[in-house]
Amino acid sequence: MQLPFLKGRQSIDFKRREIFSYMALVNEQFLKLSESYLFSEITKKVNAFKVIHPEAKVIRLGIGDVTLPLPEAVIDALHKAVDEMSVSETFKGYGPEQGYRFLIDTIIKHDYETRGISLDPDEVFINDGAKSDTGNIGDILSKDNRIAVTDPVYPVYIDSNVMGCRAGEKNEDGRWSNIVYIPCNAENHFIPELPEIRPDVIYLCYPNNPTGTALSKKELKKWVNYAISNNILILFDAAYEAFIQEEDVPHSIYEIKGAKQVAIEFRSFSKTAGFTGLRCGYTVVPKELKAFNFAGDKISLNRLWNRRQSTKFNGTAYIVQRAAEAIYTPEGKVQTKVRINYYMRNAKLLHDNLKSIGLEVFGGVNAPYIWVKAPKGITSWKFFDRLLFERHIIGTPGVGFGPSGEGYLRLTAFGKYEDTFEAIERLKNWKI
Ligand code: PLP
Repeated sequence: MQLPFLKGRQSIDFKRREIFSYMALVNEQFLKLSESYLFSEITKKVNAFKVIHPEAKVIRLGIGDVTLPLPEAVIDALHKAVDEMSVSETFKGYGPEQGYRFLIDTIIKHDYETRGISLDPDEVFINDGAKSDTGNIGDILSKDNRIAVTDPVYPVYIDSNVMGCRAGEKNEDGRWSNIVYIPCNAENHFIPELPEIRPDVIYLCYPNNPTGTALSKKELKKWVNYAISNNILILFDAAYEAFIQEEDVPHSIYEIKGAKQVAIEFRSFSKTAGFTGLRCGYTVVPKELKAFNFAGDKISLNRLWNRRQSTKFNGTAYIVQRAAEAIYTPEGKVQTKVRINYYMRNAKLLHDNLKSIGLEVFGGVNAPYIWVKAPKGITSWKFFDRLLFERHIIGTPGVGFGPSGEGYLRLTAFGKYEDTFEAIERLKNWKI
């Protein structure tokens, strides 16, 4: 029997729906997700440590949040924009969902044209940070796509695909049954190999969180060509682009010929200019990028993303977009560079000193993350415990970023220089 109110809702399992006919049902995919185990477990362990050692000064090199305040040019732009909002002649209500042209044009001019990449303004979408768009992009992609990620990985890619019904079931080894994992570890020098199983969508994050490693132009080209030959969509997260120091590392995937046909690029001002609390980033969806429907027609992802944003997003605050614009002024550029250099000095300090005490260390050259191999085959959590209890330093266990992160620990360069320096002093005579 079909209940009258269910008429036309063909996708519902009617038998089950009859039993639960008077209840709102949840998206059961959410129930498959564990609680954010990693950082709550770290907090628990740190709290337990503090009970035993209330006098200890703990140095936090775990969470990837910046510590330096916003550049002066950004603060000035914020003040100015706030004043504009107080006067009816310059007050701004709803803005374009895609972002204001003043910011879009500035981004194209400084981030892309300087690298020989031309973009139309309607290919750039301003947002409130890369987490939103890397998490929401699945809205325009079929549930039937097979997803691939490099492993270890920024957890948002996996969790958002669990929510979007693409991950399957969680296996005992922590992997999801429908996700293709591409291991990145010391053995393959953190260079992902093309997967044996062809995925439909691949997330690439370079420079990488958590490993801090980067891909050369040649290596990224391999992925772009693979995507072109196999009709694969690349979701390229370039949130750490501003930290690149080496010439041969691409800042944008569109530096690679043909990439506009296959890739969406995500950028963020969070780490670049201290916007973690202010919230602004952007996503590039080229108009020549197409994916297919079940009839085999080519569909523009730019059109779908524009439709999605127009429905679900009402734009980033005007004052925040003015603040982001200020990063590109001559003063803004200098002040931003000062901050990046500050963090990269921390990265070098950590990298070189950890190496000198005999640890295997990766990353930290083109990214503000250091990926340390735990000594003598001990686990990530054991290494975390020893660092906390013996040196009062907090890292992040690598296994929290995926199975291939087991046996590693992530340290961030986003701390204060004095704290990073003190951490190094504490590590100098550490017998591991
Ligand atoms: N992508 C990666 C790889 C990240 O590490 C982060 C933040 O840590 C983000 C995206 C999200 O950044 P945002 O602050 O712009 O949301």
